[in-house]
Amino acid sequence: MQDFEYCRAASVEQVQAWLRDGVDSKLLAGGQSLLGAMKLGLMSTERLIDLQDVAALRGCSAPARGELVLGAMQSHASLARHEVLKQFAPGLAYLASHIADEQVRSQGTLGGSLANADPAACWPAGMLALNATLATDRREIAADDFFTGFFGTALEPDELLCRVQLRRPRRFAYAKFEQAASRFALVGVAVAQWDDGSVRVALTGSANGVLRLPEFEQALNCEFSPQALRGLSVDEALMSSDVHGEADYRAHLAGVLAARVVQQALEMKHDD
Ligand SMILES: Cc1cc2nc3c(=O)[nH]c(=O)nc-3n(C[C@H](O)[C@H](O)[C@H](O)COP(=O)(O)OP(=O)(O)OC[C@H]3O[C@@H](n4cnc5c(N)ncnc54)[C@H](O)[C@@H]3O)c2cc1C
Repeated sequence: MQDFEYCRAASVEQVQAWLRDGVDSKLLAGGQSLLGAMKLGLMSTERLIDLQDVAALRGCSAPARGELVLGAMQSHASLARHEVLKQFAPGLAYLASHIADEQVRSQGTLGGSLANADPAACWPAGMLALNATLATDRREIAADDFFTGFFGTALEPDELLCRVQLRRPRRFAYAKFEQAASRFALVGVAVAQWDDGSVRVALTGSANGVLRLPEFEQALNCEFSPQALRGLSVDEALMSSDVHGEADYRAHLAGVLAARVVQQALEMKHDD
């Protein structure tokens, strides 16, 4: 691991100043991906800017009826048990509670997961299905535009992800088939439906990062039931292939999980 300077920011303004002063810097959230990559020599930097003291990046609140705001620095564990989130979208609290193990959940953050955009991660599928808006220190980015491929996002190198905003769904659920050791998704499917009947479906575990499944969405727009997905399949050319699972196996799993997650969404209790 190369030497680097460690700085602890107290405010968004301090983060911005350090990101723009010409020193090569990286943002540190919980370190669950970044520090591993640095230890392996896959990434290096002259300076780490620790975000944990920036209070403006925390919070889980519903400031207006039908709207939820989540701070980028909320840990997975804190969101998994947050009453506001459980009431707003219980399936999203469930998603958080099934990330990794307790240790990773207590350090890993929503913002770190979204900025990292691991193609096997859970939050990106949830946020893409929920049509979230990702607010940075300078603009708002729709989830459809935020994820740009394998570990790719629309964030500029000096851009700070601050919070995520959501419109309340009528139903939301997420299911994944876990890689046994890490609990990363071999395949994961998230589905959201709103009061006007519109549906979005997002898939994680594809070769090129999180993506939507338009054919599945069309079928569920007509009839929100697992039966509506009969005959539909996920193109195996979209899926990753590695020691944990071949692409055709993952594509098959995606179809099975999509039907399962729709059933889960129908059964999940949502407060009105
Ligand atoms: C053993 C293990 C198992 C895991 N299992 C799962 C799993 O089952 N499901 C799952 O979804 N994930 C899983 N993860 C990933 C984990 O949940 C973390 O969310 C992820 O590693 C990001 O970690 P972090 O929040 O600590 O961010 P960091 O590692 O600190 O940062 C990750 C990247 O995001 C950037 N970044 C961080 N915050 C911001 C911000 N606010 N604005 C802009 N850029 C930012 C950093 O600069 C860095 O490039 C696992 C990780 C480990 C180590």
